[in-house]
Amino acid sequence: MRDPEDPAFPVAAAGSATTVTELDERLPQCAACPRLVAWRREKAHDDLPAYRGQEYWARPVPGFGPVDAPLLIVGLAPAAHGANRTGRMFTGDRSGDVLFAALHELGLASRPDPVSADDGMTLRGVRMSSPVRCAPPQNRPTPGERDTCRPWLARELELLAPTLRAVVVLGAFGWQALMPPLAAAGWSVPRPRPAFGHGTRVTLRDPAGNRPLDVFGCYHVSQRNVFTGRLTPGMLREVLAGAAGVAGALP
Ligand code: SF4
Repeated sequence: MRDPEDPAFPVAAAGSATTVTELDERLPQCAACPRLVAWRREKAHDDLPAYRGQEYWARPVPGFGPVDAPLLIVGLAPAAHGANRTGRMFTGDRSGDVLFAALHELGLASRPDPVSADDGMTLRGVRMSSPVRCAPPQNRPTPGERDTCRPWLARELELLAPTLRAVVVLGAFGWQALMPPLAAAGWSVPRPRPAFGHGTRVTLRDPAGNRPLDVFGCYHVSQRNVFTGRLTPGMLREVLAGAAGVAGALP
């Protein structure tokens, strides 16, 4: 295996993973983006009063949820004091609180309140992932960092393909980052690429052309969107319920 600091490490490590579990186990070693490696570690020493004494994960954050999920939720990247602290997707900040609460209402999460990686939370029929796995400054990865990280999501999509029926993408960044790996894996992504919008739904076909994959757009559950009312809990629930229904994931 290559040096984890080698920009080609994600291609080698993700590309040769044969299961989602193996992919998740390899990901935390990755250190291919120097700016993000420095940032994820620096944030661990901010010494915020709310988290004083807690040991930060400060590594790449793997996907969370069943490895045979029919529904995938794709965000942006870990938050510096959220998933970068707890080591679990959407866990430890307000964005995640809103998302897990909606999933719990739909019967897809075992509890509404994500606290830590060992809080006993389980997801049913839904998995969470992101196109960039390390916390970026100002929540803005560069295009180069997005592209360097792409093999992790691309391989996850390939390994989930046998069961995957729907994807909910939170925000335009995730939407744009998702289309290339879907196209590379053989799904029929239209040209020009469909634009992101809240409530947008695009139906793709797998390489054999006989199995649909529905991709849903939803505003990101960022604090800004939630606090301004751009994304209300009802709007989020509606998109998630629609996607979970299509995927056959609702209890
Ligand atoms: Fe590796 Fe992705 Fe983190 Fe870059 S952002 S160091 S490619 S896990």
